[in-house]
Amino acid sequence: MLGTVFDIKEFALHDGEGIRTTVFMKGCPLRCAWCHNPEGLSKEPELYLKQNGCTACGLCKRGCAHEDCKPFGRCLHICPGDLVSVSGKVWSAGELAEKLLSDSGILNSSGGGITVSGGEPLMQHAFVTELLSLLRGKVHRTLETSGFASEEVFRSVAAECDFIIMDIKLADDDEHKKYTGQSNALIFKNASWLKSSKISHLFRTPLIPGITDTEENLTAISSIVGEDKLELLPYNTLAPAKYESVGRTFPSYINQTCAKLPDLKLFKNARIRK
Ligand code: SF4
Ligand code: SF4
Repeated sequence: MLGTVFDIKEFALHDGEGIRTTVFMKGCPLRCAWCHNPEGLSKEPELYLKQNGCTACGLCKRGCAHEDCKPFGRCLHICPGDLVSVSGKVWSAGELAEKLLSDSGILNSSGGGITVSGGEPLMQHAFVTELLSLLRGKVHRTLETSGFASEEVFRSVAAECDFIIMDIKLADDDEHKKYTGQSNALIFKNASWLKSSKISHLFRTPLIPGITDTEENLTAISSIVGEDKLELLPYNTLAPAKYESVGRTFPSYINQTCAKLPDLKLFKNARIRK
């Protein structure tokens, strides 16, 4: 089984317990207005052009004969500043499992493991299921998901996980549609099943100023999932810088300053990511 991965982050400290290697699967069916991984949205490999440092010399736009450059209409190898690359590499599940397990000693001794994230990893559920099954019993396996998948897919991948971190962004369905492009009905169905399952889990809400961080939204979410299972995640202000690199535009109405967190005293049992 083949799958497309846009990043592998080693020594990750925020994607579950301990030291982890996080695999970012490419492709997501949601379009969260604040998405911090725009290079993970399309499921296909795509050109990634770092803007900072480009002198517009035009070298990368000249024709080249490299096979790997042809689909992208740019030379990937000639830029003096190494600014041109492709986001998205195809792996076989076996090759990727072998690579990930090469660090299993360090990961296991820290109480950490492997986290499969995205994008939305459930978009490539067959590959992710195979990968997780190859890691079973050798290293701790966490899935980070938006929960936006059919109940059948969600449950079958969950069966191969030791821990699941699931985003719950907006309790109101109209707001969810407005800011992510999809209804939250499936997400809440899957969240409800996860809550009643024996699988260890955590729900997580990104604090987007004026959108998800309102008292109304956080109260509604915590009453559904339980405050003790909820982690509140301050917004990643570095996200907008990546949009131009993949030819996307960050929505100007998202407050990027995040000068202060909302009053979280009401949610004293929730975890707050520092
Ligand atoms: S080769 Fe590099 S510096 Fe020159 S135009 Fe392409 S990206 Fe910019
Ligand atoms: S679910 Fe995650 S990857 Fe997908 S659009 Fe939302 S923030 Fe981005």
